[in-house]
Amino acid sequence: MSLQRTVSILGATGSIGASTAAVIEEVTARGDGEITVEALTGGGNITALVDLVRRLKPRFVAISDPDRLADLRDALAGLPTQAGAGPAAITEAAARPAGWVMSAITGAAALDPTRAAIERGATVALANKECLVCAGPLLLAAAAKTGARLLPVDSEHNAIFQVLDRPERMEKLTLTASGGPFRQWSAERMAAATPDQACAHPNWSMGRKISVDSATLMNKGLELIEAAFLFGTPESKIDVLVHPQSVIHSLVAYCDGSVLAQMAAPDMRIPIAHALAWPDRAAITTARLDLAAIGSLTFEAPDLIRFPALRLAREALQTGGFAPAALNAANETAVEEFLAGRIGFLDIAAVVEEVLQHWDAGGHGAIANSPSSFDEVLAVDAVARRLALAAAARRRAA
Ligand code: NDP
Ligand code: MG
Repeated sequence: MSLQRTVSILGATGSIGASTAAVIEEVTARGDGEITVEALTGGGNITALVDLVRRLKPRFVAISDPDRLADLRDALAGLPTQAGAGPAAITEAAARPAGWVMSAITGAAALDPTRAAIERGATVALANKECLVCAGPLLLAAAAKTGARLLPVDSEHNAIFQVLDRPERMEKLTLTASGGPFRQWSAERMAAATPDQACAHPNWSMGRKISVDSATLMNKGLELIEAAFLFGTPESKIDVLVHPQSVIHSLVAYCDGSVLAQMAAPDMRIPIAHALAWPDRAAITTARLDLAAIGSLTFEAPDLIRFPALRLAREALQTGGFAPAALNAANETAVEEFLAGRIGFLDIAAVVEEVLQHWDAGGHGAIANSPSSFDEVLAVDAVARRLALAAAARRRAA
């Protein structure tokens, strides 16, 4: 096999970025493909970015922090790579001519660059879920217009993508969830959970924001919305099932009673390699699944009382319109406040709930209206962040 790709990685310095770089290097080292790297982006981690520049030799790199362009240029001294800084430079990186783009910036900050890649018709490997949650219908409409292909990298959605060969005969999608580090914790114990405890995921090593989302189960809530948009599936046909071993990554039930699942060791290089090689497959040396060693796979229903974030996300999907964007922005803010030690773990979902509950009453516009532009989505995102900060401050003072 010889894979020919020109790629860019948005969020290259993160966890998914590192796994993407590792997959590219392995495919290249095996002689299985020729992969040229057009652009890489990072947030503020210049050291990690420059290490990637030496390994992957991109033409262009960008960081989001506009004040650190001089530092980046110093660190790149002697290397032929061009550099930019600030949100516009990140979007410029996405707009450059790479046929395959990994979208792995964390949060809604991925929206503009992901949109730029879609608007020029690229194949977009979507690890970032927040951009779909905020603006799924707008991004899908843009992709339909330009012919851009969205390949899901989030492990559950990648699993569904792999087994959903007859969507019109699908009866139900089931997203599996590990249950996170607090699956067996009481609410009293969770109330005192620290950021490090919330980030200690049992099966996956990930960035801090998604790790906290996994602990609250908001991650599964965001994934529920992501699945509804990606696969055009109504909320009522998407279930969530807690499966602590993270071996079955999701399931599709068909109208004849058959259920197809995708299984693999919990390693993000697997869905990344799938998206990179699609529609072919690439050989990579991940841990192979040893079911005899695992012994048993277990399942349980999610507890919506201890984990209200999942209920809130389902309600936001039912409401539709701007509700998912407001939910996401309120959650991003609440998670930042929690990681900074300013609110407790249980306050995260409480802040999100407060923002959504008081939305219409606050005169911020009808939340159920459908967004007609990305600017409208960004305006709602900004209001939700302000409201969430105020709600977090009230909880701190209480
Ligand atoms: P990380 O926190 O490890 O990495 C995030 C990346 O985004 C880093 O490169 C970071 O730069 C960059 N970044 C952060 N803020 C900004 C910004 N404002 N503008 C531009 N770049 C920014 O996160 P993960 O890799 O874990 O997750 C990335 C995305 O993938 C998330 O949306 C997550 O939900 C999704 N995902 C992750 C999975 C995982 O296993 N990790 C699984 C499924 C989905 P820097 O570090 O240089 O500051
Ligand atoms: Mg996932």
